[in-house]
Amino acid sequence: MRTALYDVVVLGAGPAGLTAALYAARGKLKTLVLTGSMVGGQIALTYEVDNYPGFPDGVTGSDLSDKFKAHAERFGTEFLKGEATKVDFDSNPHKIWVGDKLLETRSVVVATGMTNRKLGVSGEDRLMGRGVIICATCDAILYEDRKVVVVGGGDSALQEALDLAKFASEITIIHRRSELRACKCLTDRATQDPKIRFLYDTTVVEIIGEKRVERVKLRDLKTGEVKLLETDGVLLAIGWDPNTSIFRDQLEMDEAGYIKSEGVKSSKPGVFLAGDLIDRQYRQVVTSCGSGCAAALEAISWVDAQSNHSDVLKWGAQS
Ligand code: NAP
Repeated sequence: MRTALYDVVVLGAGPAGLTAALYAARGKLKTLVLTGSMVGGQIALTYEVDNYPGFPDGVTGSDLSDKFKAHAERFGTEFLKGEATKVDFDSNPHKIWVGDKLLETRSVVVATGMTNRKLGVSGEDRLMGRGVIICATCDAILYEDRKVVVVGGGDSALQEALDLAKFASEITIIHRRSELRACKCLTDRATQDPKIRFLYDTTVVEIIGEKRVERVKLRDLKTGEVKLLETDGVLLAIGWDPNTSIFRDQLEMDEAGYIKSEGVKSSKPGVFLAGDLIDRQYRQVVTSCGSGCAAALEAISWVDAQSNHSDVLKWGAQS
């Protein structure tokens, strides 16, 4: 089934995608957001967003994503729930399939974000946002004088632990091996921080709590011993995977699945990128919004240039 021709289809409805939609629709582009499974992306999983400008009392992740959506809707953005199953960015217009539905569009903003790796243990999904967290910058302040477990042994785990240490009373880094993967500078800082301790050769086998996280069940991988550790939070820092597999034969990307970009431009004309997919460093709501805005402005210029080009051709044919 074919739909109307869009000026821009935004893939992804996190802060980057919704900001791109707001700017594109306000710039008079016929705009559709393909939302994936839910609107909001990662912020929908965050209980409280305390560092988005303009909300001095904080805002829940779901309220903020509802506001982003309403703002884009106000300028006429259309929304379609679902995930792209196939794309063709070599055709003109570009083609995006959602099952048997075919979307055609002059430009695309890819803002499909990242998925944090999960442990796959009992309690993890149920307590997500209720003690199970994925971002210290977003949530550390909620753990003032509380205990937090950080899982992982890479740069993220140590950086997150250091950020948490400004607020929490005690942080335990749980790592499955006997050596950290993190860089020396972060390792030095974390090992010297009196609030941070390390449990090596240990995995989390269960996250326990009724309404919020109360404790974790740990297994010592050398001895097999299982024990409980009281904690108020569990921060997962075991890596992130970009949601880009569907673009593998369409856009240049590195081995980890990050799409190669020049600013917000991809390797294909008319295809722009926004959000965590092109941000290995900051990954904040506000930085995602910034690249969403930039991608939409590029899409507007692209669509305008295409329209002017076809006007020139039309005038040329008439004269
Ligand atoms: P990462 O380097 O891939 O580290 C992931 C960590 O999680 C590893 O220690 C890994 O253990 C562990 N892990 C993976 N799966 C696990 C599982 N199922 N159960 C338990 N542990 C598991 O990921 P990252 O730390 O997010 O870093 C990603 C990239 O961002 C890196 O290039 C990093 O340098 C960069 N980064 C930089 C900074 C900074 O410079 N400040 C901060 C954050 C991230 P193993 O070691 O056993 O594999």
